[in-house]
Amino acid sequence: MYDLAVIGAGPAGMAAALAAADAGLNVVVVDEQIRAGGQIFRQPPIEFPDAALKPTAGYGWAIELLERFENHEDIEHLTSTTAYGILRDRDNDEISLKLAVSGPTVSGVISARRLLIATGAYDLPVTFPGWTLPGVMTAGAVQSLLKSQHVLAGEDLVLAGSHPLLVVVADQLVAKGARVSELAFARGIPGPRELVAARRAIPGHTDLLAESALAVARLVSRGVKVSTRTIVTGAFGDRAVESVELARVDRDWKVSNRRRRREASTLVLGYGFSPSTELARQADCRMVWSSPKGGWVVAHDERMESSAPGIFVAGEPTGVAGADQARAEGHLAGLSIARELSAPRTPSGATFAAADKGISRAEHFSTVVQTMFEPKREALATLATPDTIICRCELVTRTSVDATLDDNPFVSTASAVKLQCRSGMGPCQGRYCEGTVGALVANARGTSLAEAGHFTAHLPVKPVPVEALTRLDQLDS
Ligand SMILES: Cc1cc2nc3c(=O)[nH]c(=O)nc-3n(C[C@H](O)[C@H](O)[C@H](O)COP(=O)(O)OP(=O)(O)OC[C@H]3O[C@@H](n4cnc5c(N)ncnc54)[C@H](O)[C@@H]3O)c2cc1C
Repeated sequence: MYDLAVIGAGPAGMAAALAAADAGLNVVVVDEQIRAGGQIFRQPPIEFPDAALKPTAGYGWAIELLERFENHEDIEHLTSTTAYGILRDRDNDEISLKLAVSGPTVSGVISARRLLIATGAYDLPVTFPGWTLPGVMTAGAVQSLLKSQHVLAGEDLVLAGSHPLLVVVADQLVAKGARVSELAFARGIPGPRELVAARRAIPGHTDLLAESALAVARLVSRGVKVSTRTIVTGAFGDRAVESVELARVDRDWKVSNRRRRREASTLVLGYGFSPSTELARQADCRMVWSSPKGGWVVAHDERMESSAPGIFVAGEPTGVAGADQARAEGHLAGLSIARELSAPRTPSGATFAAADKGISRAEHFSTVVQTMFEPKREALATLATPDTIICRCELVTRTSVDATLDDNPFVSTASAVKLQCRSGMGPCQGRYCEGTVGALVANARGTSLAEAGHFTAHLPVKPVPVEALTRLDQLDS
């Protein structure tokens, strides 16, 4: 039995594991990736010639965190291992948690006194005609290919969306020799009021902001067209993307008739991120809706414990807030777990105070970014035409979702639509379609996205070999 099992070796998971292990707890960290780092510090395989850790602009602390994590004696890191379910023992007063995992070295059930969900986020999917064509990718996926495999997703690209990550990705693509013809942002240039509000983000983040401004300047100087109030409304091609349609939008992202086509072999979408919360939902943690934070996020107390006793949460599942905040929340969660379990070296009150300060410092930046770049979800849901596939696993079109809503006047939640027309029942468990279905329900019923609700999640929350399920009854030591 471990004291703590952490799911996710990104900044949140690594910081938590280190805080807990430094306090004397024995910690296991499970992650699907082959190396630690999470999304932002994703590294190439160790066999690559340039596999040494590299600094990430704006995150001077990253290398030390990674090195300490990888070399800590009391942290066991299970790489290439998927956590696909949480089992809680309800008959027992003592909290007993089990994590179902599938991986090359451990496949079965890990027991731990506490769990930390630090599973990060994934790219926000947006549906429009042609979005399932080969060649349409998300910004995070394109960046992952570059970072971990040094592979360019395409030669001739258009990037479209609303999130600042698009600038970073465009800059990285151009630096590697790709041709980026256009970078299209759905939002307009920030007005004076927004800029005044954004000044709170500057302290402590000058490097990051300067690097972003330099990236835009580099792109423009290399001939990349940067357009605002422009949204992608279609991708076209016989077997893969050959061209994309871009349209002018108003400040609410309502599409106008001013549309144009641009040739491209790859379309990269970046509208932001959705917190990865399926494990938390499957474990019955209470969820709250916050569109600026990324949608459905896991509720937690001031010590990062969720509503499910013994299950803590840190990083993007609490709200998409960037790597600084993920690290700060992970650190606090690790300290809290150490105190709750009366670890041999229980952290002092001053340590907790410093950790709280770290979170509030990071929040100055994250709340500005969240407010400035919040996607207009209801408008995005209207991009799908009747034939557009909403759920790509079960091939459910917009017509099917609309018909479900028309035929069933009392259906008013995303989950009820799922039960009627199977959207969200495939292997991705709704990661692609949940947001669109929720927005279509809200638009049709005139309710809020919060009222439309979220899908429920079931074990296995991610696809695993059937063989893994047969081991569910085998307990570890
Ligand atoms: C693809 C992608 C690229 C990004 N690139 C940038 C960037 O360049 N710059 C930037 O500022 N921000 C970027 N972000 C935002 C970034 O997620 C945060 O800034 C930061 O990495 C959050 O840290 P975290 O620890 O919360 O989560 P993450 O860093 O996302 O770490 C979560 C980890 O959990 C693992 N995991 C998730 N579910 C499971 C499971 N069921 N079983 C096992 N392991 C699991 C994942 O493999 C991942 O390693 C990116 C996000 C994504 C999704």
